[in-house]
Amino acid sequence: MSKIEMKTPLVEMDGDEMTRILWKYIKDELLIPFIDLKTEYYDLGLEHRNETDDKVTFDSAYATQKYGVAVKCATITPNAARVEEYNLKEMWKSPNGTIRAILDGTVFRAPIIVKGIEPCVKNWKAPITIARHAYGDVYKASEMKIPGPGKVELVYTAEDGSTESVLVHKFDSAGIVQGMHNLEPSIESFARSCFNYALDTKQSLWFATKDTISKKYDHTFKDIFQEIFDAEYKEKFDAAGIEYFYTLIDDAVARVMKSKGGFIWACKNYDGDVMSDMLSSAFGSLAMMTSVLVSPSGVYEYEAAHGTVQRHYYKHLAGEETSTNPVATIFAWTGALRKRGELDGTPELAAFADKLEKATIATIEGGQMTKDLALITELENVTVLNTENFIKAIRATLEAM
Ligand code: NAP
Ligand code: MG
Repeated sequence: MSKIEMKTPLVEMDGDEMTRILWKYIKDELLIPFIDLKTEYYDLGLEHRNETDDKVTFDSAYATQKYGVAVKCATITPNAARVEEYNLKEMWKSPNGTIRAILDGTVFRAPIIVKGIEPCVKNWKAPITIARHAYGDVYKASEMKIPGPGKVELVYTAEDGSTESVLVHKFDSAGIVQGMHNLEPSIESFARSCFNYALDTKQSLWFATKDTISKKYDHTFKDIFQEIFDAEYKEKFDAAGIEYFYTLIDDAVARVMKSKGGFIWACKNYDGDVMSDMLSSAFGSLAMMTSVLVSPSGVYEYEAAHGTVQRHYYKHLAGEETSTNPVATIFAWTGALRKRGELDGTPELAAFADKLEKATIATIEGGQMTKDLALITELENVTVLNTENFIKAIRATLEAM
């Protein structure tokens, strides 16, 4: 059998720990035997980030801007313990944060639905996609501990030197304070990414903030979305038979619970962080959640929503068997390959991505799965496989197809 050709390379961002092990298994068993795989490789493993003073992370993001499609393995975001463990020169920033800041995108996360793994919420029949604004707010905040009585003000100094200020609080005890920001261009591109993705996937779009309390900050998000929708998207949405609606975040949460699913829920940065974890576990497992960063310039970066699965990695290092779920990482590859196929006009590549996804789902529905899924499935007579054998089982399904 001849291998499927690729025209343009994918930007490949390798990562850390157990997901780095999965990465290699997936390439060796599920991709390289079938595709003439072309990638531009960037090693975002923590050791190499440290060696390059994190330059490799920046280079991988610039390469993504150049080529248009990247696939990323989970990476360690260093904390004090990691600085010691890896003897780091400094506490390097989150690679995802660095990449998102360069690409200025929106992250779309959607659960992978499999028969036999039923959502906790019984009325959810279709996936709910979270669109998370990937810039600013609490993730770019400045914070201060207030040692005792005194006042805190926010001061804006314009370029001409004129100032405007507002009192945050007059403290009569010790306390804490936080200043955060966002940018109109970033909110505008967030809105456009959401509207475009809704049209792309023919799903309605919901957006919610706390604008009743945050009358300037959150209200600006609401206004920008509405202005862009009315001016640029209303007619297209009508033609596609989908809708956009805004509501208060409390109301959105209540409605999401009662919904059937099948829509996109746009969230501010923090809401998206928290709600995507809730949705993924309610839909089954963090290991069954796909994630793609879409930039306003039409650049895509695919990854799994979970981390490096550190606990499993230490078992693996100790020579113990692991049963780590590779599905979200496989879907990161298939998402990237499909998009590459669409952009390059190579339908065989896109068709291969579809087939690999089908083979993955069919393997699980056929009763072969990793331990995390075996614990929650309603299927009977399940075979729990270790990491490597599960990937081999998917390969067998794929070859049979
Ligand atoms: P994690 O890697 O997502 O794992 C947390 C737990 O969730 C695991 O211990 C495991 O539970 C379960 N789990 C997650 N993915 C799984 C999979 N594929 N198969 C089976 N079980 C899975 O989160 P973490 O342990 O908090 O973080 C580890 C590292 O990942 C940290 O250094 C963090 O910085 C990094 N991180 C990276 C990203 C990213 O690159 N996108 C995202 C989040 C975290 P059991 O142990 O109970 O089996
Ligand atoms: Mg989170």
